[in-house]
Amino acid sequence: MKFWVITDTTLPRINEDMVILPAFEHDFDGNRAKTESVGHFDSLASGALLKHASVRGFAGKNGQTMIHFLTSSILAAQKALLMGVGKSTEVTLQSLQTAVKEAFKQIGTDKAEQVTFDLKPLLALGLDPFAIGKMISITGHLILYTGLNYKTRNAPKNKFSKLRVLADAANAGAILQGLSEGDAIGRSVNFARDLTTMPANVLTPVALKNFAQLTEKESAGSIKGKYYDKKKLAKMKANAILAVNQGSSKAPWMSELTYTPEGGPTKDHLFIVGKSVCFDTGGLDLKPAAGMRFMKRDMAGGATALAILKAVAALKLPLSVTVILPAVENMPDGNAFRPGDYIETMSGLTVEVDNTDAEGRLTLADAITWAKKQGATHMVDFATLTGAVKSIGGDVAAGLFGNNASFTQLVAETARGQDEQVEVMTMYPELKDLNASDVADLSNSGGDLAGSTTAAWFIREFAGEETPWVHLDIASVAYRNRAIKLDPRGSTGYGVRTGIALVQAMAKMQK
Ligand SMILES: [Zn+2]
Repeated sequence: MKFWVITDTTLPRINEDMVILPAFEHDFDGNRAKTESVGHFDSLASGALLKHASVRGFAGKNGQTMIHFLTSSILAAQKALLMGVGKSTEVTLQSLQTAVKEAFKQIGTDKAEQVTFDLKPLLALGLDPFAIGKMISITGHLILYTGLNYKTRNAPKNKFSKLRVLADAANAGAILQGLSEGDAIGRSVNFARDLTTMPANVLTPVALKNFAQLTEKESAGSIKGKYYDKKKLAKMKANAILAVNQGSSKAPWMSELTYTPEGGPTKDHLFIVGKSVCFDTGGLDLKPAAGMRFMKRDMAGGATALAILKAVAALKLPLSVTVILPAVENMPDGNAFRPGDYIETMSGLTVEVDNTDAEGRLTLADAITWAKKQGATHMVDFATLTGAVKSIGGDVAAGLFGNNASFTQLVAETARGQDEQVEVMTMYPELKDLNASDVADLSNSGGDLAGSTTAAWFIREFAGEETPWVHLDIASVAYRNRAIKLDPRGSTGYGVRTGIALVQAMAKMQK
């Protein structure tokens, strides 16, 4: 998406296919629009714009849209899109996002390629220009996303390429900054969506490692990667990661990407671990067909983590951040790990395999141990970990668990601020005992009671109590069967916005 801001005081000659005009309710309660731009276009159309609105029942209500074809010869623009924003006294950034979302839906349906957004009437209300710019660009990317596909016929595509914004000179710089930040964030969310949607024969562990390498390359030096193959993983005693991959004919790969800000490493160093099971059959404890169908998405946490780092580097955020992606495949064959096997994890703790389908926590155990060895001061993991999390927040909220009240609260508030919902779960200590094993320190499954919490407790045994750690179980929200808010049906890129905002918040707290 290319974008720029025009600061002409009069409405310039519009060359884009579509001009978007914010329209308030008070524009339609008389026979003259009170907003300058709507009034201007109405008089260009000799009153046809308001007449059309009245026939169509368009009253400027928030979220209403109406397309009006422009016939005036002084404009190259073919269409005006009236974007209802409600009562001028009630417009907030959040209410505006609903309107902008509907406008972008129309842009998509209409296959508009170039659009001019008139922001002047909104800026006149005193809304923050940076925040408006950021919101518009994120909303545009997220709503116009058509999804990764391999169709050779009738593939959905959007032609949208240019966004021009009308604003006054005083606000132009801040809007441009906002548009540009939102652009980096929106692209990253869509990158995570694409990776999550990629089938397992395309996105193998080595392919995920290649995407990590590409991210390193694109960062022009701010990200340095280390890549661990099977041999190196064995040397560092990542036996839990290796055990999960044992039944696969493909090699496991762990990527570790460290972003260092321009001013050098910071005191706080956030480690983000993403569950990266490229395909999960369940292993010898094979999943039923319905449960296996979408297991290409069991690396959504890894996609989220990598996408966060991509944006962190693009935005040059002032905090040291490392991402760890333990990429494996959980397959059943003669070499596969078995129920009853015991694993000596990297930390030294031993685990009895109760169920080979509880593999994600095994890979996270070693990855988190590694993060601690590498000097993490804070840790967050994103993982499509348990089906049980769906009974907590349906397909709306992720389950959030942590070992440190203030860090847990920071992550939860950050997520809510990004409109990514979380349920903060109490980690009752008695639930920890459900992970007991007769023959090892831990069992990798705590049974049916509070499945998401016992899984979190399992990871916490490796995270320990000293380093603040938060676990986000995103199995409920990384993909959905329906479209919600800014997310399409399918992969959502959940957590990318939260992760970026968390890095920003932690960077700010350091100062
Ligand atoms: Zn599994």
